[in-house]
Amino acid sequence: MIATILGSGTSTGVPPIGCTHPTCLSPDPKNKRLRAGLLLREGPGVPIDTARALIVDCGPDYRQQALNHRIDRLDGVLLTHAHFDHVAGIDDLRLYNFLQRHVLPMYGNAGTLDDIRVRFHYIFDPPQQGGGVASLDLRPVTGPFEFLGQRIVPLPVKHGSLDILGYRFGDFVFVTDANAIPASTLALMRDCRTLVLNALRPEPHSTHFSLDEAVAIARDIAAERTYFVHITHLLEHHETNARLPKGMQLAYDGLEFDFQPDNVPAR
Ligand SMILES: [Zn+2]
Ligand SMILES: [Zn+2]
Repeated sequence: MIATILGSGTSTGVPPIGCTHPTCLSPDPKNKRLRAGLLLREGPGVPIDTARALIVDCGPDYRQQALNHRIDRLDGVLLTHAHFDHVAGIDDLRLYNFLQRHVLPMYGNAGTLDDIRVRFHYIFDPPQQGGGVASLDLRPVTGPFEFLGQRIVPLPVKHGSLDILGYRFGDFVFVTDANAIPASTLALMRDCRTLVLNALRPEPHSTHFSLDEAVAIARDIAAERTYFVHITHLLEHHETNARLPKGMQLAYDGLEFDFQPDNVPAR
């Protein structure tokens, strides 16, 4: 399967509105960062309209991300947590209901799904009349589960006081918005080939790893390749990459890599 980073930016995006920081004035597309998003799609060599696809998170830039990457088909959504920058695009998922004529599965931990029911109350209770709302099947994640013939392992991490989830897909580990990872979760992350991890900025932050903290975790996991996401303008793409350890780089919007999912044998 192919993974695509749909958005590598922190909650404001880069540039934030009105910002004149040098990174924000850079014309380099690698310094333009939409809000969080990850696409996992069958491929290579599978036509885009038949390739099964899932996304992790669905932030305020999702519509543009879906147009940029022709996400014309979507089979499911995994949520890390319910902050605005990870869920504000959920209304746009109704387009898939119209196109595919089925309910869209949406996975998350119990706290995240509770938040979704409140933030998008008009979807769930009572159903809005007219205009159309997304039709979502909320599925609580309590442990490893099977979806699209793959085994997916949830990775509990801390985001400030919030308990949120990363996910492991075979040899690929995805963790965003963490500022602490319990030892039991680090154990689930080991021996992966590709690690995507959040790294906000050089200075420490109360709810996100700094770059140095993320590098320390990445050294411990020692994946073949590590990409950092959820980045502010304080990390210019090329200047930062030039001083990162071997095998570690900042991600950028549109970055693609392959991974081997944990396929579940057909029964
Ligand atoms: Zn975030
Ligand atoms: Zn968050």
